[in-house]
Amino acid sequence: MASIPLRSLVRDFKPYTAGLSIDEIRDKYGLSRVIKLASNENPLGVSPHVQQVLHRYAPYAFRYPQTGNPRLVKALADYHHVSPSRIVVGNGSDEVIDLLFRVCAEPGVNNAVAFRPCFGIYTTQAALCGVELRQTPLNPDFSFPWEKMRALIDDNTSLVFVTSPDNPSGYTAPVEELASFARSLPDTCLLVIDEAYMDFADEESAYSLLGRLEEFPNVAISRTFSKRFGMAGLRLGYVILPEIIAEHVWRVRLPFSVNLLAEEAGIAALEDRAFLDETYRVVRTGRAYLTEELGRLGCTVMPSQSNFLMFEVPSGEQDASALFERLLERGIILRPLTSYGLPRHLRVSVGTEEENHILVSILRELLTQ
Ligand SMILES: *Cc1c(COP(=O)(O)O)cnc(C)c1O
Repeated sequence: MASIPLRSLVRDFKPYTAGLSIDEIRDKYGLSRVIKLASNENPLGVSPHVQQVLHRYAPYAFRYPQTGNPRLVKALADYHHVSPSRIVVGNGSDEVIDLLFRVCAEPGVNNAVAFRPCFGIYTTQAALCGVELRQTPLNPDFSFPWEKMRALIDDNTSLVFVTSPDNPSGYTAPVEELASFARSLPDTCLLVIDEAYMDFADEESAYSLLGRLEEFPNVAISRTFSKRFGMAGLRLGYVILPEIIAEHVWRVRLPFSVNLLAEEAGIAALEDRAFLDETYRVVRTGRAYLTEELGRLGCTVMPSQSNFLMFEVPSGEQDASALFERLLERGIILRPLTSYGLPRHLRVSVGTEEENHILVSILRELLTQ
């Protein structure tokens, strides 16, 4: 038997746990219909305009994409009114987050800081890169304990991650809190605000620093095409960075990690205002409906600015696992949060109107029998 060495970081690596897939559940329970509300995907699917563009470009898939994805970067720069030299696109925002660890944190020297619980990718990529990740628990109401986070930061902290709207809670920090926290940081420290869900918020300027980056030289903002743009399977995300960091991330990024179809789809998605507006409408209507109905069934629902809701099961339930399993048997996949240290909570993505109704009627049976 070969005994090829494994890095100790790899031997001890705990992989990211993704939501269950539709096929898995259909086969396991012999169901004909499965509704997946576990991964915060767009309930409307892929925009018809993007689908047309994918067809149109399919014959070119034998070509390499253009290095640096300049047309997509230009389209994003115009969309957000920022300089193209600040933008890095990646194979999902996950890729760019991974690259930030590798570009900004010297293993064994620098550290990174986040709240606990946090998005799994910060934990996995810090571990794989050998970078210490310091965490402080969220407040009991899931708001952000800024002073405790500030206390973890020292001269060797190079990255601070904040997710807003937060996943899994849905909590969204007021923009002035972010602004004063950013101002309090040493200039050796990059504040990365993960705004994967910001394009579902009531009013972006009340929550996001994106329109004010000139004031904040140490702030980066990450966004994704996976949620409101309906392209999770194409893998496309981006981060708006200080120019000097963007330049270095581009230098080390694998040259073709954003594929040709994803690039064309991304450009098309930015133009498809009708699809974006309809997604916003469906998500916000569904979010209000589910908040109301889950509350009526005795669940405690966290307010949310995103396309998902986190709720605590009624006090009569021992934890959320039994309800999660009974929903699976009925063909509905939610996201359990035990791995986030929240055994009494579940996260549900807002679905189509029909999916939301089916979920509520099954929950009504399960919780009131
Ligand atoms: C979904 C999500 C992302 C998006 O990741 P992609 O790699 O762009 O699909 C990023 N951050 C958080 C917190 C998310 O929930």
